[in-house]
Order: sequence, then structure tokens, then C-alpha cells
Amino acid sequence: MIKTNIDYESQLEIYESAKDISHEFLNRLSKDCQIPIREIRFNEVINYIENHYGVLIMPYEFKSIARRIMSGSLLINHGGVAIGYNSTMIKDRQNFTILHEFGHYLQTKRYHLDNQSYSDLLSNRGYSDDELKTEHEANMISSYILAPKEALSNLIHEDSSFYRIGQEFKMSRQATYMRLFDQLTLENHMQPITAKNIIRDFEDGKNDSIKDHFNRYIPLYDEWDIYDQIMQDQM
Ligand SMILES: [Zn+2]
Repeated sequence: MIKTNIDYESQLEIYESAKDISHEFLNRLSKDCQIPIREIRFNEVINYIENHYGVLIMPYEFKSIARRIMSGSLLINHGGVAIGYNSTMIKDRQNFTILHEFGHYLQTKRYHLDNQSYSDLLSNRGYSDDELKTEHEANMISSYILAPKEALSNLIHEDSSFYRIGQEFKMSRQATYMRLFDQLTLENHMQPITAKNIIRDFEDGKNDSIKDHFNRYIPLYDEWDIYDQIMQDQM
């Protein structure tokens, strides 16, 4: 994951745009596959990316240079889209990388960057400031799609542990931590130190506080709009 020196205001902006891009995707998946957002998991996302978007997702070849230096890549060519990923990384990081690259794809659509391709290195060095923001947004898209707010909130309210949440969303400890941290600081506008304490408690098996905050700030209404829409489409 990329360490950033991006200021809080920019972080907020990036989080909002990442959330917007992710939500548009999740809503579409939810509607097309008739599955509520709170039940969307990694496997549904991958199936949808492959079948609906026609994206080819492939590990790098065993002897390729990419396998030594790159984590993932996105290639857009004459309308074809391919995501490459390094299968020597741990599984959770592979998942995050695949959705990071898909995040780049959603960015090209959103910002009309036709035929732009991306390569991400295993060492995250050498990004310019603009690229850092793009990378940060792609990370947030990946994180948000892996653990949609509605799904995350639901699990927390079902008393799932921190560890269980990581398992459920196929996220590493670090990725789970960041997802919760972004949610608390950038959406709930909590002080970082308070957010850290709440997440630490959660990791230690104490979920009262996090439950309280997810309860207070996250309504579960928006997916019902989709149900209404689906029901109307059926009639
Ligand atoms: Zn990237």
C-alpha cells in the first residue's frame, strides 16, 4: 500500500470521488445481478468484471520481467481490457491489486482517459504528485469495492470480529485497517487518534465503540432504492 503525504482536504476529495466511482459500479452490479450491495463480495465482483465488462484478468507469466518488478497492470487496447497481476504476492494483496487496476479502468471512464494504460511496481517508488493522487484514488476504489459500506456495516452489527471481516472481504489486516480508518476519519470526520483507538479496540475484540459509530453514521437505506427499481422493472 502506498504511503502518502496528501493533505487532509485532498484526502477528503479523493475519498469522495472514489466513493462515487465505487458506488456507481456497485449499484450497477447490484441491479444487473439482483444482489443487494450488503451481500456483494470479491467473487461476485470478479465475475461481474470478467463477464459484464469483458476484462481479461491474468497472472504474469512465470518467466516474465513483470513478475519480478510489478504488482499489477492495466492494458487498454482497441477496446480490449486486460488486468495483469503478480501471483507471487500473498493472495489478499493479489485481490487488492486486481481491484486497484480495475479502479484505474473506472478512472479512465470517469475522466475520459481513452486508451490509458497503467503499470504498478512492487516498490511504489517514483510517482509524481499527480500520479500519487491517482494511485491513492485507485487504492480507495479497490478498498471500497472490496468492502462496500453497507456490507461492512452489516457485518459489524452482526458482531463479526476484525479478523472475520478481513476473511469475509478477502482483505489483509492492513487493508482492513485502512478501510475502517478511511471510513471513520474521512466519512465520519473523526480525529485520527480516536479512530486508531477504536480500531485497536476492535482488533482486541471490543466492538462497542465501532458499532456505535457505524450505527450512527451509516444508514442502510440506499440499497432499498435499488430494490424498488428492480421491483418496478419486473412489473
Ligand atoms: Zn496504480
